[in-house]
Amino acid sequence: MIYLDNQATTKCAAEVVAAMMPFLSEEYANPSGVANAFGRRIHERVEAARATIAARLGCQANEIVFTSGSTESNNLAINGLLARHENRHIITSQVEHPSILAPIEQAERRGCPVTRLAVDSSGLIDLNQLAEALRGDTLLVSILLANNEIGTLQKWSAIAEIVRKSDAYLHTDATQAIGKIPVSLQTLDVDLLSFSGHKIHGPKGIGALFFRQRGGRRVRLNPQVWGGGQEKGLRSGTLNVPGIVGLETAVELAAQEMDLVPAKVSQLRNELFTGLARGIQALQINGPSLESDVRLWNNLNCVFPGVEGQTLAMTCEQIAMSSGSACSAAHAEPSYVLKAIGRNPDEVRSSLRFGLSRFTTTAEIATATELIVATYQKLKP
Ligand code: PMP
Repeated sequence: MIYLDNQATTKCAAEVVAAMMPFLSEEYANPSGVANAFGRRIHERVEAARATIAARLGCQANEIVFTSGSTESNNLAINGLLARHENRHIITSQVEHPSILAPIEQAERRGCPVTRLAVDSSGLIDLNQLAEALRGDTLLVSILLANNEIGTLQKWSAIAEIVRKSDAYLHTDATQAIGKIPVSLQTLDVDLLSFSGHKIHGPKGIGALFFRQRGGRRVRLNPQVWGGGQEKGLRSGTLNVPGIVGLETAVELAAQEMDLVPAKVSQLRNELFTGLARGIQALQINGPSLESDVRLWNNLNCVFPGVEGQTLAMTCEQIAMSSGSACSAAHAEPSYVLKAIGRNPDEVRSSLRFGLSRFTTTAEIATATELIVATYQKLKP
């Protein structure tokens, strides 16, 4: 198996698994049970992990709420704000993840006006359109930092500069950006930011939401999960202690490897494209060019003219790759992201996404390239 689907999920790093193990066995006390020494110890461990993650992100520990992942973080950001400010205007883009688009669609049904910004062929929003869309009653602007299908990195400082001329809160889904580009909340101007463990070689089922508590801008959210009052009442439920410790380790590892991994993996990604393009002359890239500084270094997304992406992926069954995003693929719906960047229905159907990781090897890329080219030539009409 050659795993080239790291935008869908990633392998848990060995260091992450090792860090989690004690909390799946002997260190199992409930961190809310601070009435006994076992619980207090686990509580302290959770708070230490929160502090490490906050320090790596450049925020305060009390600005981090642990969730089950980015889907929940995105829902908490949107619905948690809207519960306090019903029927206010929301701005988002057409290429967001479904965990942004779906709660916003629900809000729209309840009466919130919504603007969904279009994107250009690179997947970038138009900054003039953003400025024009802002209104006196705009509550929230939510824009994806790095796109999960085509790897587009939005020009955040320009976005923030425009949004800061209004009173709107600024949220970003940074699920695909954390661990790939340096994200410091000292410099990245946002009020809310979502991320998830399983995209950065951490475990599934853990993530967090940053919500600003300093600098004169205090974000107040209504809880979306009610119960025992964990996470200062913002997200009830017994904390996922192994997940939190795993997330901490994954965040640490990503930060430590930021110097070497991007150059190595982007070179492999470029080799994959060059090899495929050598065998398939009509191959086209979806999204920003590979040299562009607005593209994630581990992502490639291509049109394979005349062959269905899904058929190609299923025929090369030893390679894990994805047609469209994993989430929309579950519904077998053509990618709305590729449509939004101007691809026609045939091109969308003929597209495949590749996501590399620090575990991808040169040998794997060589084998995958050969197999995909040979399979394409066989399937081509
Ligand atoms: N946002 C983006 C950009 C994603 O890529 C994903 C994962 N497909 C999510 C949100 C959802 O994250 P999770 O699986 O942690 O709920």
